[in-house]
Amino acid sequence: MPKNNYFKLARLAFMMNSQSSSSIPVTFTLLKVFDSVLSPQEVEFLLSMGKDTATSDAIFKKVNMPYDKACEIFSSLIAKGMIWSKVHEGQELFSVSPIMLGWFEVYLCNGSTTSEKREFAHYLTRLFNSWKKYNVTPLRQLRNWINKNNVPHNVIKPASPGKKIVINEAIVPETSQVLPSTSINELIARYSDEGLIAVVHCFCRQWKTMEGIACKLKMPLEACIVLGKFSEHAVKYGFGRFISKEEAAKIIDETKKKGGVHIVWHDKDQIDKEEIAICNCCWDCCGVLGSYNRGINSLHFKTFYCAYIVQQEKCTGCGLCVTYCPVRAITLQNNKPVIDKNVCIGCLQCYHKCKKDVIAIQQEEREVFLPLLKPSQIRVP
Ligand code: SF4
Repeated sequence: MPKNNYFKLARLAFMMNSQSSSSIPVTFTLLKVFDSVLSPQEVEFLLSMGKDTATSDAIFKKVNMPYDKACEIFSSLIAKGMIWSKVHEGQELFSVSPIMLGWFEVYLCNGSTTSEKREFAHYLTRLFNSWKKYNVTPLRQLRNWINKNNVPHNVIKPASPGKKIVINEAIVPETSQVLPSTSINELIARYSDEGLIAVVHCFCRQWKTMEGIACKLKMPLEACIVLGKFSEHAVKYGFGRFISKEEAAKIIDETKKKGGVHIVWHDKDQIDKEEIAICNCCWDCCGVLGSYNRGINSLHFKTFYCAYIVQQEKCTGCGLCVTYCPVRAITLQNNKPVIDKNVCIGCLQCYHKCKKDVIAIQQEEREVFLPLLKPSQIRVP
């Protein structure tokens, strides 16, 4: 039996969607996810808050409830990731979270596995699987068209610059230890003086683990790095812990070795806004890459690198590049790798895994759009 009025849940879902530049289709299955998490009073509270950003006192005045009750619901909604905060000019301001990036991620990122969170994880799986229904002709083409014409909201930045190459010329090893401005470690360093780096559990891996699905790449659970004001919120409300830039670099290195792709997220999903998180994603569990490999969503990235084959004759055909490429941009043809530049998202995994220097990378700022995989093309069932 539903706890909530579904018209109110739909209003809330549309309102939360409007808090971000990327929105989730408001379907009955999505409303069931809301219903599994929220009480009717919590829904009323969120609807009363509206889209405003305000102090807690201003919010308590707006919601028509006794003060103690309002405090209790407010705390519960923060713990559920439905409300997040930001300190602005010394004042803590609160607003209703977007659905994704927002509520989904925050609710699962403190690593706890209560029965409520397991139920949420279960409904989330149903929601993501329900999107597979829309992967049929002509809906697939329509979804691809819509997604392609959206502003890209994911930015991939490599963990280290590797080698720069000019095609048909010798590989020039990078001699300088100075990382390029686009590197993850330099990005982290920007926040290290203020101590504004925190680590949280990867929402996607936490979700899959609760569903009994082990990560095929054996990536760690505590692996996502949050930056700046978002790190303050994460630590203050118990979602994560502050770490040094050295620990952050260790996480980047460990996840890179295991096959991680470093994706940078921005406030309100807009790439011109400040970065809020670095996800160390894998092609299996990730709600973005993993869902692409399951035929659930398309991908639209802004990326800065592209991989090239430079010494094909040295290739032993080990296939590691194929295994670790998150988007299957590499295939082995006659036991030799071939890279489809139009598919490569510049994550550098193939470059890091190749022991024979067959693959090199080139700096190249591009947008890459990968359409929804047809059911016959999916990598993970
Ligand atoms: Fe990454 Fe695949 Fe491109 Fe290599 S070919 S950089 S693994 S996307």
